[in-house]
Amino acid sequence: MYPAIQFLIDGTWRDGVGDAEPVLNPATGASLGDCPMATAQVLDEALAAAEAAFKSWRKTAAIDRARIMGKASDLLRERADRVAEVLTLEQGKPIGEARTEVIYAADVIEWYAEECKRTYGRIVPGRVPGTRQLVMQEPVGVVAAFSPWNFPALTPIRKIAGAIAAGCSIIIKPSEETPGTCVEMARCFVEAGLPDGVLNVVFGQPAFVSEHLMKSDTVRKISFTGSVPVGKLLMRQAADTLKRTTLELGGHAPVIVFDDVDVEKTVQSLVAGKFRNGGQVCVSPTRFYIQQDIYEPFAARFAELASAWKVGPGIDPESQMGPLANPRRVDAMEDFVRDAREAGGKLLTGGSKLGNQGFFFQPTVIKDLPDTCKLMTDEPFGPIAPIVPFRTFDEVIERANALPFGLASYAFTRSLQTSQAVSDAIEAGMMGINTLAISTPETPFGGVKYSGHGREGGIEGLEAYMNLKFVASA
Ligand code: NAD
Repeated sequence: MYPAIQFLIDGTWRDGVGDAEPVLNPATGASLGDCPMATAQVLDEALAAAEAAFKSWRKTAAIDRARIMGKASDLLRERADRVAEVLTLEQGKPIGEARTEVIYAADVIEWYAEECKRTYGRIVPGRVPGTRQLVMQEPVGVVAAFSPWNFPALTPIRKIAGAIAAGCSIIIKPSEETPGTCVEMARCFVEAGLPDGVLNVVFGQPAFVSEHLMKSDTVRKISFTGSVPVGKLLMRQAADTLKRTTLELGGHAPVIVFDDVDVEKTVQSLVAGKFRNGGQVCVSPTRFYIQQDIYEPFAARFAELASAWKVGPGIDPESQMGPLANPRRVDAMEDFVRDAREAGGKLLTGGSKLGNQGFFFQPTVIKDLPDTCKLMTDEPFGPIAPIVPFRTFDEVIERANALPFGLASYAFTRSLQTSQAVSDAIEAGMMGINTLAISTPETPFGGVKYSGHGREGGIEGLEAYMNLKFVASA
């Protein structure tokens, strides 16, 4: 049921020869299989394959790239049930969420396949009669990509689909904790007829793999989704060979709820959003600022719904929230709760580990905590909702913008004037007004400040893998 984890190099599936690490099922803590660790030789072979494949893939007509990608998207959609099961086994999220993610990944491939036919460039009128000035778009070259464990289908596919649609070849290192989903998706590309070496999949010690790929001049662009410290490290490494970078480094999304909302409807949507994927979502709503007049009823109802949230193995279709993806998240949640309580926060529900196997943690709600405590300043990346009151517009904007992050942000209000003012004032790459749905294949996804730079999705996600060339002719 769980696939054998192999490298994909130059169109061939290869077993590892040296070290391997177990992939754990977060619902039980038991091993699902082994993930091989790449040696320097494996990485050099991946670099050589990607370099050779780029020479012909860049010249392959967009319409032909699109046809292959379209087939890969269809195959992934046909296999959604199976791939979703692999995803839930290795990552933990409820099977319905896993299936939605896999279908979304298929949609991303399809969207990039369509969009690569429209990388038009532009014609700029010449200053001298009879001259031509063209701005052309060309693929940037070999790409190295690193994706995390929280969305094992979506985070790799945004990078793979964007790169190959643009005419680049790519070496991707998905998370070693959730390798099976990417292996299954890569099979779809191979079976769809993607030429050898255009997509290469490796696993290994993250620091070793990234250092090796980053020092190579063959790689001209990197894309990373993960934590701020690793993003900074990769950007420093990219400087030595002047690689272009796209960095999506998480956030700490403020949710500002004004007192003119329908409280019941708003709480219902925020509870579902908060506990999706156990809160291990870079755009998860994470700092709840609630206007004074509705603060107490809002917090009480939020806690009531959270305490009834059904936690269990993701493979059980009844579960609304699965285990956390790894034991590090459980330790981190305990630390956040301890710190918040010491700072004076009132625990309304949850706060502890659940069960005696796997990595389960209770949906947790804490109110009345100071803005300086860890839960309000560090990305929780887990199922804890801190709720605090505010009085005025200016005050809440200042508090919301006080952190160095700026990925997602949300506001709930019935006032058109307030919604326009809040979307102007917030420092973030994305904002949802009366909605948490801010991610689609056709819109730009990414952040500002310490949340990173560059965009995935939308035409910007394709441009991220293209260089501009200006051609003047007389
Ligand atoms: P971590 O900082 O060790 O790793 C984060 C990710 O980066 C992992 O996928 C890891 O495999 C990868 N990584 C680590 N070192 C690397 C290197 N030198 N080169 C390339 N990749 C490397 O932390 P973690 O315990 O896995 O996650 C903790 C925090 O990371 C979370 O609290 C969250 O803030 C952040 N995170 C963000 C996202 C996101 O979607 N932006 C996803 C996962 C984790």
